[in-house]
Order: sequence, then C-alpha cells, then structure tokens
Amino acid sequence: MTSMPPVSSPDAPEPLPVVRLRPKVGAQAIRHGFPWVYADQLVTDRRTRALAPGSLAVLEDAERRALGVVAVNPGSRIIARMLDRDPAARIDGDWLRARIRRALALRERLYAAPFYRLVHAEADGLPGVVIDRFGDAAVIQPNAAWAEARVDALADALAAETGVGCIVLNAGGRARALEGLQGETRLLRGALDGPVAVPMNGAVYMADLLGGQKTGLYFDQRENHAFAARLTGGGPMLDVFSHAGGFSLAALAQGASAALAVDSSGPALALAEAGARAGGHAARFTTRRGDAFDAMAGLAGEGARFDLVTCDPPAFAPTRAALDAGLRAYERVARLAAPLVAPGGYLVLCSCSHAADPESFREASLRGIGRAGRQAQILHSGQAGPDHPRHPQLAETGYLKALFLRLDG
Ligand code: SAH
Repeated sequence: MTSMPPVSSPDAPEPLPVVRLRPKVGAQAIRHGFPWVYADQLVTDRRTRALAPGSLAVLEDAERRALGVVAVNPGSRIIARMLDRDPAARIDGDWLRARIRRALALRERLYAAPFYRLVHAEADGLPGVVIDRFGDAAVIQPNAAWAEARVDALADALAAETGVGCIVLNAGGRARALEGLQGETRLLRGALDGPVAVPMNGAVYMADLLGGQKTGLYFDQRENHAFAARLTGGGPMLDVFSHAGGFSLAALAQGASAALAVDSSGPALALAEAGARAGGHAARFTTRRGDAFDAMAGLAGEGARFDLVTCDPPAFAPTRAALDAGLRAYERVARLAAPLVAPGGYLVLCSCSHAADPESFREASLRGIGRAGRQAQILHSGQAGPDHPRHPQLAETGYLKALFLRLDG
C-alpha cells in the first residue's frame, strides 16, 4: 500500500505551536478539569517566551501527550488557560458561537427577560471573558489576553447568537492588570442613548454601560436583592453602599415605606434616583452621598432606626494580604449598622472579597454585631445567582457572600 502524499488545502489551519508542562508537573489536575497552568509549571524556553500574549498553542504533558488547546500569555502568572480539551479544536468564530450559545441556553432557562450575566468566564468555557446582557445591549470584559486579541470575533459571535445591536468593550476589570492589558471602555458596535433601563425583581434599575462601575450593574446580587425584599415588612429601609439602588429599589417595589440609599459616588446615586423615578417610587426614596462609615455613625447619632438595613461594601479583602484589614472593616460595618436596625428588624451584610471565606466573614460580622450589643439569628446565607456559575476547580469564583440576620427585639 502506498501512503498518500500530504494534501495541502488552502484553508488547512497552520499547526499550533506546542507548549509543554515541566517534568514532574502532574497533568492530573488539568485532565480532571483544572483550567489553568501557572508560569512555574510550564517549560518557558525562548520559543514559549516569544509567543505573543493571547497566542494559541497545544498543551502537552511532560511525556508529550496532548492535553488540549490553550491560550498562552507569557507575561501572566496564569501562563496558559485551557480553551478546549480537544487538541485538534479550531478556536474560530464557530467555536466562539458554540460557547456563547451554550451559555445563552442556561440564561434563557433561568430568566424571562434578557438581562443577566451571559458569560461568566472559565465556568462558561470562555476563560477570562465576562459578558453582561442588558436587553438589546451587551458589555464584554475581555480580562485575558486571548480574548482581548479576539474581541471583534467575540463581538461578532455575540451579535450573531443574541441579536444584540449595541456592544460595549469594558476595560475596567480588576484582573486585566495581571494580564498586562490596558485600554479604555468604548463602544464596539451600535449606539447608546444614556443609561439602559433594567427590569429586575419588580424594580427598574438604570445601568450606565459606558461610564459606570463594573459593567453597569451588579447582576450577581439579584437573588440577594430578592431575598432582602422578602424581609421588607412595609417599614423604612437603609441601603448602605447602594450603588444604583440594588437593595433599596427592590425593597421599594416590595412595599418598603421609605428607602435611604448611601454611597460615596454621586453618579451611582443619580442612577438610583433615576431608577426610583422610573419605577414610580421617587416620593419614598432619598439618597445621602458620603462615606458610609461616617453616614452610619451620623444616622445613629440622629436616632434613626430602620426595619431593614443592607450593607454591600466594595471588596475590603481583595487579596490574601489584605485579609486581616478587610475582616476588621467588615466587623466595623456590622458594628455601625447593627444600632440602626430597629428592635426585631433585619440586617443584610455582604462581602464580595475573594480572600474572605464565608466562615471568616460570618465571624467578623457577628463580632461586630456583638460589639454593638445586639444578638442575631442567622436566617439565610446567599451567594451569586446562577447566571454566575462556578467552575468546580476554582473555589475563588464563589466570591460573593450575603448574610441575612434578624436582630433581637
Ligand atoms: N449594593 C449594590 C452594589 C454595591 S458596590 C448593588 O446591590 O447593586 C459597592 C458600592 O460602594 C459602590 O457603589 C461604591 O461607590 C460604594 N463605596 C465604596 N466605598 C465607599 C465608602 N467608603 N462609602 C460609601 N460608599 C462607598
């Protein structure tokens, strides 16, 4: 039998370069689904170091068995991210569309209206990529070099699968600096005419997709907003670290008699006010701009008491190094918030710090409540909603914690 000569077809893909695990670095974790290779696990010869950030390569174990197609960033501690366990996979527009289609199917099952986190990075098979959907608009955060390099292809795939007409590229992700990425938030497709109205939990939120925090809204808190709103008994509520009114607008929609939102950001409070107007609750909604710690101490001095108090601060412990100081800050939030809760009223405390585990956060919170001379019942622990699925091998992705408490009468 004669062997066939190699056929060169015009669209045969260039073979990908190969990167290899160091000898003695076990491939078991990766075979079992761990999606990352750290820099000290990879042979970083001159050829690998010369790969442009975001290049594709076939990852092999030390015995030269292929493990899959990875995206390589020689400048990052996460030097390779698994894209596809099939070493022959072509990472092209069809591949991107298939990943987005799979992510979309989950969200369409979960939500009646197209407002959600559509893609949650590794857990949705698109490493480092965050996409939030706001009806006919979407925001892409390409927080890894491979995605940054392919953001136009991602936008094409997103538009093709969802039909969104407006796409924003958001360059505000905290992880981007670790990948050596820069750039500005800007419109990639279509046009935006001011903030987008987002219906959620019976409220209307206003999301600023171009100039706001995060991608515009904290979709991760949706279920916790809803649970807090269930605790609304028709009395007044206080929303500390309110941003665009996440907790307060949901509570007003559930019949809170009044809501006060506190935030240091004027633009965030302006969005909250616009949301209250859009939902028809402006008469029961007030805001106070300033430092939350000062505001809580001031309200206590004024003798203010609320039936429900929610505190959702920024990440006080974004890294392990900041953990002790972060836990002290969570304790302080609880100590200042507890006196503002009316007898028998409800307190919701949140943490979005990756480094603070749920137990440490709960202990810090209960310590603060104790220091304020109050006792608590723990009613419920919340986390990010199911449009923020977790990757089973990345414990860090379970960052959001919400504690629901009733304080003594
Ligand atoms: N609760 C919101 C999300 C809050 S994000 C929601 O559910 O949608 C944290 C908010 O804290 C941001 O809006 C930020 O502007 C605000 N913030 C950060 N530091 C602050 C401080 N020291 N005092 C008051 N607000 C602060």
